[in-house]
Amino acid sequence: RQSLKIGLIPGDGIGVEVIPAAKAAIVALGSDIPKPDFVDLDAGFECFTRTGVALPEETVRVLEEECDCAIFGAVSSPTRRVVGYSSPIVGLRKRLDLYANVRPVTSVAADPNEKPDVDLVVVRENTECLYVKQEELKHTENGKEARATRLITERASRRIGQMAFDIALGRPRKHLTVIHKSNVLSVTDGLFRETVREVPTLPEVNGKYNDVQVAEQIVDSAVYRLFREPQIYDVMVAPNLYGDILSDAAAALVGSLGLVPSVNAGDKFIMGEPVHGSAPDILGLDIANPLASIRSAALMLRFLGYVKGADRIDRAVDEVIREGTVLTPDLGGKGKTSEVVEAVLKKI
Ligand code: NAD
Ligand code: MN
Repeated sequence: RQSLKIGLIPGDGIGVEVIPAAKAAIVALGSDIPKPDFVDLDAGFECFTRTGVALPEETVRVLEEECDCAIFGAVSSPTRRVVGYSSPIVGLRKRLDLYANVRPVTSVAADPNEKPDVDLVVVRENTECLYVKQEELKHTENGKEARATRLITERASRRIGQMAFDIALGRPRKHLTVIHKSNVLSVTDGLFRETVREVPTLPEVNGKYNDVQVAEQIVDSAVYRLFREPQIYDVMVAPNLYGDILSDAAAALVGSLGLVPSVNAGDKFIMGEPVHGSAPDILGLDIANPLASIRSAALMLRFLGYVKGADRIDRAVDEVIREGTVLTPDLGGKGKTSEVVEAVLKKI
């Protein structure tokens, strides 16, 4: 590749404050990656109130036809129902078939030669489960009744399973925990659990995953054990909603949601995205932690094969956290977003 075309979708709230940090980190890599070429793209609730559309077709078209990859900030999806609005990130994951949401949660050891206390990856199915958003409301003689469809397919469970096995295989411990609730939901979660567990026996897999050790855990006790003994986990694979909740929970173990990156990955496209939302409570104060966004840029580059560039960014972030002199208030510091970005850029 001569150049790398990167779509930037800041979205709403602090998305707008942290995406420039990801961009700056990529630019700072210089010749370690192909020359980056950024294109700004619109989406989000602010876009919806301005134009009537939360995810413009032009954004999807540019991503599909012109971009090699993208970074998404966050969107503010109202908790009340707004007619005509649907979360653009959920839409984008489906439109671009980004079927895996990979969320590494890693703490930074005080000594760079020591192992971190928390070092796990949540691999979240990204296209189905309750996020198919098929909800209906009925008025019965006993009052309102609401239902939602929870879709689990063999195809989606198999491909997220394969992604999770691949990720486990690439890590020193090679351990995978399948998260489910099939003691209660034996049909839906049962299908997820069985399909993922069968991945190593697929003919095309051909023994590739023989070294991966597989365990399973019911989701509620998985959260309990995650808080008591996070070191038992390496890679966790989960249906969409459990994966969403587990990764926010895991973020608490490493100090802040503002530290945890992700990529939305499909077979043809990669989109980085910090795990946090638009954080309206801290908007405009210049105190949003930019490190999740910066790490999302690194993770995106890593998935694209630019490991050297990704390592440089991750090392710089780790050093800034380890030194602890310039950190945002979510990590107990007094630093501004801009000062943290500057410190990271200097290290890169
Ligand atoms: P949130 O992740 O925005 O915030 C949760 C808490 O973490 C808040 O106290 C916030 O200040 C803090 N926080 C989050 N990111 C931070 C950062 N980078 N630095 C410092 N502190 C940070 O979750 P929420 O408050 O439940 O949701 C707010 C809005 O974000 C909602 O409209 C929701 O729909 C949306 N949301 C979007 C996404 C997404 O775009 N992928 C994900 C989650 C929530
Ligand atoms: Mn979430």
